[in-house]
Amino acid sequence: MDLSCYPDNPYILLTPGPLSTSKAVKAAMLRDWCTWDLDYNSIVQDLRARLCALACPGQAFTAVLMQGSGTFCVESCVGTLVPRDGALMVLANGAYGQRIGKIANVLGIPLVLEDFGETAPVDPARVEALLARHPEVTHVAVVHCETTTGMLNPIEAIGKAVKDAGRTYIVDAMSSFGGIPIDVDAIGADALISSANKCIQGVPGFGFVLVRREVIEACAGRARSLSLDLYDQWKGMEQGGGKWRFTSPTHVVRAFVAAMDELDAEGGVAKRFERYSTNQRVLVDGMEKLGFKTLLPRKWQSPIITSFISPDHPDYAFKTFYDKLKTKGFVVYPGKVTDAVDTFRIGNIGEVYPADIERLLDAVKESMYWQG
Ligand SMILES: *Cc1c(COP(=O)(O)O)cnc(C)c1O
Repeated sequence: MDLSCYPDNPYILLTPGPLSTSKAVKAAMLRDWCTWDLDYNSIVQDLRARLCALACPGQAFTAVLMQGSGTFCVESCVGTLVPRDGALMVLANGAYGQRIGKIANVLGIPLVLEDFGETAPVDPARVEALLARHPEVTHVAVVHCETTTGMLNPIEAIGKAVKDAGRTYIVDAMSSFGGIPIDVDAIGADALISSANKCIQGVPGFGFVLVRREVIEACAGRARSLSLDLYDQWKGMEQGGGKWRFTSPTHVVRAFVAAMDELDAEGGVAKRFERYSTNQRVLVDGMEKLGFKTLLPRKWQSPIITSFISPDHPDYAFKTFYDKLKTKGFVVYPGKVTDAVDTFRIGNIGEVYPADIERLLDAVKESMYWQG
């Protein structure tokens, strides 16, 4: 299809989702699909199998798709997996970990929230000690790439501590799955959550949970919500051959299939990881040359999004800097760190290449108005 007639984006999104998508992904939405017709449902089944194949070899996992943004999926997973007499431990080091704790509170799930601070990774040795002190905890949740800072948590070592203690392990890999190689089985995860509009580079509208079959099979009747019942959603898709219980985001699903095709064409997750890593390296090298400092040391930094410390200058204001960059074709992100330090963030996932980052660096240089 000739896509040149469609307008280009006025700016690229250097944000952690929604992010810049290709024209082919958007063009895939230009036809209508019947939510219960075989044409559409077979697309859903194929997609579920492809997601499982991305995450691990074999048949141990099944993919459940859920309407809504990523948070809906997290809520659906926590609210369905934790039994009525269970308790959840959340290992938090940022806003997204804190949000999982909030979900547990709203759902009335007993919660142990352990805060590691926003600028330190989750420490597996501390997790081991915590679990020994909390025999009542049945499920443990952690965020892989904590998008608040860009921190990458050691999900494999944490998984070992959780599995050695015999607990169920839930990983929010929202902003990393598809962009960083993850073998769900090898890290010991029982459920891994992500969404359409992050590293697989689709448009927003649904998320998915990759869950061990034996875990989801045991979850009938546990959910604290009707529409977010992950078990029922799974059962419906299994029995109905790809049927969603309630109206499916058909166009978004079709766009996501196009995004999966692009991921394959790029060479899979390993190649995408390389591109994102290069983007991030070019970004940090260039920003450091311009005098900016990162919040995190490189060893903890994900190749997804980077927090920069705001310039310590009385004339600097994020909004002015943001507006200048936007007129030059780049949208960056405000900071989310709640500790004393003021930051802004630049994402490098989506339809973004090292050449775009080079252009961004020129734009940043021209936008440093506080330097006179
Ligand atoms: C994006 C994101 C989510 C989900 O956010 P939504 O706004 O609901 O899509 C959850 N966790 C992490 C780590 C994320 O980056």
